[in-house]
Amino acid sequence: MKIDQFPEKIRPYLIPEPNGHMVYVCLNCEAEFPIDKLLYTCPACGSVLMLHNQNSGPIEAINGPLWREIFDYRRMLNQNALKGIFRYYEFMAPVIPLDHILYLGEGHTPLVRANPRMQERAGAEVYFKVDGLNPSASFKDRGMACALSYIHTLARKGGGKEILAICASTGDTSAAAALYASYLQGLIKSAVLLPQGKVTPQQLSQPLGSGAVVLEIPGVFDDCMKVVEALAENYHVALLNSKNSWRILGQESFSFEVAQDFDYEVGDKAITLPIGNAGNITAVMSGFLKFLRAGIIDQLPKIIGVQSAHADPVYRYYLEQDPEKRHFEPIMVKPSVAQAAMIGNPVSMPRVIKLVEAYNQAAGGQRVFVVHVSEQEIMDAMIFVNQNGNIACTQGGESFAGFQQAVNNGYVGTDEIGVLDSTAHVLKFAPFQDMYLTDRFDPQFDVVPKPELKNAPLLVKPPRLKTYPQAGKPLSGTDMNGYLDEMTSEIANILKLKKKSP
Ligand SMILES: *Cc1c(COP(=O)(O)O)cnc(C)c1O
Ligand SMILES: [Zn+2]
Repeated sequence: MKIDQFPEKIRPYLIPEPNGHMVYVCLNCEAEFPIDKLLYTCPACGSVLMLHNQNSGPIEAINGPLWREIFDYRRMLNQNALKGIFRYYEFMAPVIPLDHILYLGEGHTPLVRANPRMQERAGAEVYFKVDGLNPSASFKDRGMACALSYIHTLARKGGGKEILAICASTGDTSAAAALYASYLQGLIKSAVLLPQGKVTPQQLSQPLGSGAVVLEIPGVFDDCMKVVEALAENYHVALLNSKNSWRILGQESFSFEVAQDFDYEVGDKAITLPIGNAGNITAVMSGFLKFLRAGIIDQLPKIIGVQSAHADPVYRYYLEQDPEKRHFEPIMVKPSVAQAAMIGNPVSMPRVIKLVEAYNQAAGGQRVFVVHVSEQEIMDAMIFVNQNGNIACTQGGESFAGFQQAVNNGYVGTDEIGVLDSTAHVLKFAPFQDMYLTDRFDPQFDVVPKPELKNAPLLVKPPRLKTYPQAGKPLSGTDMNGYLDEMTSEIANILKLKKKSP
């Protein structure tokens, strides 16, 4: 719709202004730092940072109902910069000029209602928010769109000197970083560090296809992370890991979208998501808090964080009920099918601790819960949901298994509604699916496929058929007729088809 076709009342608000004043704020010592440079950790105390907009005047000048109208009308607006996560520009990064915003199709992923079989299995009404339908097929694109838009601004200011963007990854961050950096070819070059043998071939092919320098490092993700941090400390590189608070900011769009998807009624929802490096759960809590404070929503949803029993440091931390006695202890991870969340020392843990506290306080009671599930439960859930109309990866399966657990534990009532983060596309994690379906799991995963869920291709070779067509050598005449006869009767036999009466 063209601007002059919108109601007059909305027109002044449709195209936002970069009128924010953003600063980095240290989560530990609360020192503030300007955003003219990329910072990852507090120069004063070394803790992690969050981004704050100190010019809250323009946001407060608009009430909740008007904000809702603005976002709802912006859905109909054809402005490239505002088509993705920046529909919520004022709550995201209102310092990036609109013409520096990268939009590669991220955000506004579908909310898909589960079929009756899944609802029954889950024990409550359930939706998947299908973040696997982002451009690089995971939710990481949300954060990357924001971080690269900001770095784009820096690069333009810096007179076009090429910036090297670097990240360590369990696979999906690299794919997203390489994709967004490749759009800014000439201004930004990207390099990614992956734990050797710990990402799927599909995930490895993504940054290669985007033209990034791909470095495989012996070790697990936590080791890659240490190498990348040492690089960022000593060399001129832009770090794209979730220590980078611009990424957290972009990932808040998930919450804004869920709010809008449900007409801003989220008090009866339980947002369920896997926890790895804990950036996503941080962003999701932060996003809902912002909308609550602006009066856009009037209740906070529950948050259910899910971890695999093979990588569950956050779960263990919250096992202790007394906040005074809680103590964070990094753990050694064991191989997990939820490989993108296989992290023993999440960099965003300090953010989680702060935000869980703020979240529960704002809600006036406990609204954040962390559960853990077995590898077996994750795989059973993934295969089950995908046999019921979904495209969930192993971590999406983890969301479903975690939600079932939360219902069983009584964290979520059967009258509440699950909104499950399907964090990546099944195709990225196809090797795990295939190991399950064909019963070839390495024993270290502790996964035994359910017989009724197994699946493998059947080769159709009727015993009486002697001549097959080959590439460049098609059959014809009686050979072709014989081939068709034998094949159809064999397939009809396998599928137990009934013959039509003549
Ligand atoms: C990164 C990732 C996660 C974990 O998210 P964190 O922000 O690291 O907690 C989960 N699922 C998928 C598919 C991912 O790529
Ligand atoms: Zn500090």
